[in-house]
Amino acid sequence: MDLPYWIARAVEGHGQWTSTFAPYERHPSLEISDDRFATVFENYEKLLHGNYPFFHPRYIGQMLKPPHEAAVVAYLSAMLINPNNHSSDGGPVTDRMEREVIDQLAAMFGFGSHLGHLTSSGTMANLEALYVARCLHPGRGVAYSSASHYTHERMTRLLGMDSRAVPADRYGRMDLDALEDVLRTGKVGTVVFTLGTTGVGALDPLAEAMALRERYDVRFHVDAAYGGFYSVLAGTLGLDPAPWRAVRDCDSVVVDPHKQGLQPYGCGSVLFADPSVAKFYVHDSPYTYFTPADLHLGEISLECSRAGATAAALWFTFQLLAPTADGLGEVLAANRRAALRLAALTADSDRLRLHQEPDLDIVTYFPRRAGDSLSGIGRACAAMLEEGMHDGADPVFLSLMRIERDAFAQLHPDVRADADSTRILRSVLMKPESETYVDELHQRLERLSASQGKEG
Ligand SMILES: *Cc1c(COP(=O)(O)O)cnc(C)c1O
Repeated sequence: MDLPYWIARAVEGHGQWTSTFAPYERHPSLEISDDRFATVFENYEKLLHGNYPFFHPRYIGQMLKPPHEAAVVAYLSAMLINPNNHSSDGGPVTDRMEREVIDQLAAMFGFGSHLGHLTSSGTMANLEALYVARCLHPGRGVAYSSASHYTHERMTRLLGMDSRAVPADRYGRMDLDALEDVLRTGKVGTVVFTLGTTGVGALDPLAEAMALRERYDVRFHVDAAYGGFYSVLAGTLGLDPAPWRAVRDCDSVVVDPHKQGLQPYGCGSVLFADPSVAKFYVHDSPYTYFTPADLHLGEISLECSRAGATAAALWFTFQLLAPTADGLGEVLAANRRAALRLAALTADSDRLRLHQEPDLDIVTYFPRRAGDSLSGIGRACAAMLEEGMHDGADPVFLSLMRIERDAFAQLHPDVRADADSTRILRSVLMKPESETYVDELHQRLERLSASQGKEG
């Protein structure tokens, strides 16, 4: 699609629509001359270009990429109107779009009845799930794995809830024996399972854990902020279907369309299996008889104002690339194939060593030559990151992640454990373009690790 054409078309269409209303004069206080605008714009553009090239397949650092052009055009056209999805009066059209995309997300996870809404982030979405958990299990705490997102620790503190970090195994997945030990105390009311940890993209063993839910009368919340859309590929491309099939029997789930759903930032979501939890949000006099459909979105959300444009962009994107295997799934499948290929090339490499097989699309590795000690690995990885980022002619953008000594030792017992932890390289292959670029990328990583060997 031709982005300049559709942007111009969106602006033009907006002008046509606004001109159907009675004419009025624009206030002079808002007028800015093209000259002044140009001066500020030129400086602004220079500043913007100080960013890293998130769009490029050589950027495999953090979970960052531009939105799909469809989302950009839809967001822009809705933003020109600027509806507020706080209420159906504030966003009469985008309110309906939000309900539709929430239904699509619920169907993706296999939720039947449900209550849900978009949020400004995964953090807000998780906060809402934990808030409802607290309402339903007052006085009982929250357990999450030590590899879960740091937001859970922070949010439970904010909510004044007790929290327990359950150890993760060597692959970064929650250890269920340790979880059961925690549940036996009776002090935990909610367990957070992560499907796609932010570090290595690990999937907690949710299916195996399901029996614990009734045995200990606890809520199960699924944080799939990063990985959630991979549920459409469950059972294909080596993706374990079991945890995804178990989501439908959980109490709440979070997924961030601004991570893998091709959306600009400001788009998270939370879904509850039981629509009656709406009662914990209602801020007015208690409604004794209501159906969730009667409630404004602002009445089932902790946030008040929310951009209708966010719902519009997601709705429009889903019209073109639905959250199904043959829509958005095709994008994710390319990410997954790229990750599998990079993992295979790394496992075969003389210079690089694979840390673990990817559950999703995040590949972790370190240079072999530095592989005799934890401290040596940490230094070499940091040097590779620095050199890759600052090589103007042949750059590659990487990121690091800390691994604790014991977890590392279980996977690589031959490495001398001369430190409490180390840092390894972590590459997020969340752009489908990685698929055709992955061999080139791998060669660049090989060269980078070779040059570390020389200097070190
Ligand atoms: C990114 C992420 C979050 C936080 O979401 P934000 O949208 O960044 O606030 C929470 N949990 C997981 C697993 C994540 O990957």
